[in-house]
Amino acid sequence: MIGLADCNNFFVSCERSINPALDGKPVVVLSNNDGCVVARSNESKRLGVKMGQPAFEIRDMIEKHRIIALSGNHLLYRDISLRVHDIFRRFVPSALDYSVDESFLDVNGIPVDVLPEIGEAIYNACWKEMRIPVTIGFAPTKTLAKIATEVSKKGGQRLGIIYDEADAVKIYDNIPIYDLWGVGRRLTKMLYQNGVYTIGQFAARDVEWVKKKMGVTGERSWRELHCQPCIELNHVERLLQDSISESRTFPEDVTDYDYIRARIVIYTSDCARKLRAMNGECRSVGVFLRGNPFRNTEPVLRPERVVRLSSPCNDTITLTEVALDILDNIFIEGAAFKRAGVWLGDIQKCVLRPGSLFETEVDAKTEKKQLMNKFMKTIDKINNVVGYKNIGLASQLVKGHQGHNDGYSSSFQAPSRKK
Ligand SMILES: [Mg+2]
Repeated sequence: MIGLADCNNFFVSCERSINPALDGKPVVVLSNNDGCVVARSNESKRLGVKMGQPAFEIRDMIEKHRIIALSGNHLLYRDISLRVHDIFRRFVPSALDYSVDESFLDVNGIPVDVLPEIGEAIYNACWKEMRIPVTIGFAPTKTLAKIATEVSKKGGQRLGIIYDEADAVKIYDNIPIYDLWGVGRRLTKMLYQNGVYTIGQFAARDVEWVKKKMGVTGERSWRELHCQPCIELNHVERLLQDSISESRTFPEDVTDYDYIRARIVIYTSDCARKLRAMNGECRSVGVFLRGNPFRNTEPVLRPERVVRLSSPCNDTITLTEVALDILDNIFIEGAAFKRAGVWLGDIQKCVLRPGSLFETEVDAKTEKKQLMNKFMKTIDKINNVVGYKNIGLASQLVKGHQGHNDGYSSSFQAPSRKK
């Protein structure tokens, strides 16, 4: 069996977690670039607010029903996400983070009759410690765990378990095909044209038909519906996420600027590499530092800032420049930090306009972007062959005097501040 823990209405729940006055009220969170709805509370869902709907379309509804529209605080969401994922890990041998608010739980070897207890314990811990409601599903495959979670959430349950195929088949006919994990708009259209409207109809098709129409991805989904596990997370992780982040807790409090600077370079490089791997580019960069929450001498330090880029970007050099700029702005001389992180947000599919044949003057910016793109692709290719830590920015090198190993080597003297 495999489990899935999924936070309900995550961004809204995060806002409620720090502001209980929002409880029970219709709330939406809007994206910061175009003001589209990216999260809805159950109350807003009931009023008919759609996911992705632009704010101007629901202006009347917002007024009439006093919907509270918030602009996203993504560093807060990231912070809560890390802590919620840590909670998941306390109850299972290991967990694979799938997105900011979802984790697959490895429950291999755990007796099936203990699973409800584990689910209940995870729910209680997330609610009591973070005020984040989660839904948990267990099933023989990842796809079925997704279904178990979705069905429970819709039915207002905290926990759903699909034990075997006979169990699964019972609910298939009630689930529209577009709710199947990995089936996007394009595939839905194709399946509709072929008379497949529900997961039940899809599962009833011949596997050869599925293979021919949808290739290996479709076949994997089909097999998973028939309780044959075959989806690995590396099959899906290249899907476009809306944000990526990387952060670490230091084993000791750190006051050294150069050390933190080198970490920020490393985290940014890592995020940028992932961003390129999913063929995306981002429009926002955030950096955050955290003081030690267990030092009760002062309110916990949490300097952070998000900067919006003038144009979408995925190259390590530009993103690092921006991140270090932010660091210089938020770093507090003499303060001790326990954690640092980088966040890339407002991710979209990479669009690289090829220079048109008819353009008499080549846009210098486009040309630079194309060159940078080639350069980054080359570096990624080399690093993919020899291990991604081999080629990086010189600015990530710092004397390893804090004596801790977070999996990145750093063995040279760093350039000193602002050089
Ligand atoms: Mg969720």
